[in-house]
Amino acid sequence: MENERYESRALLSRLLTICPQCKKHIYGKDLNLSEIDKSTVRSWPMPYVYCHLGEKGTIHALTMYLDASFTVRAREVSEHVSIQENTRNKKESSLI
Ligand SMILES: [Zn+2]
Repeated sequence: MENERYESRALLSRLLTICPQCKKHIYGKDLNLSEIDKSTVRSWPMPYVYCHLGEKGTIHALTMYLDASFTVRAREVSEHVSIQENTRNKKESSLI
């Protein structure tokens, strides 16, 4: 149990990858990885899409393929992103 807590804290501060598009450093805490229930993941590596703003204020999506220890095995950038506003609100309310 204590070990699990330590691992989860270490995960939050771990540098997972650097976005090849904007060079942003992406840490475990940016992805809320500690909130993922691994037993619900259908297959590994798990794709995780992280949308963020680059230096010029343009949104892009970085898809990271994470293995079961949350190490990034592959990644790809998409500069063409559309997020429906009502989808985002649903996600936020489900976190409360
Ligand atoms: Zn980026």
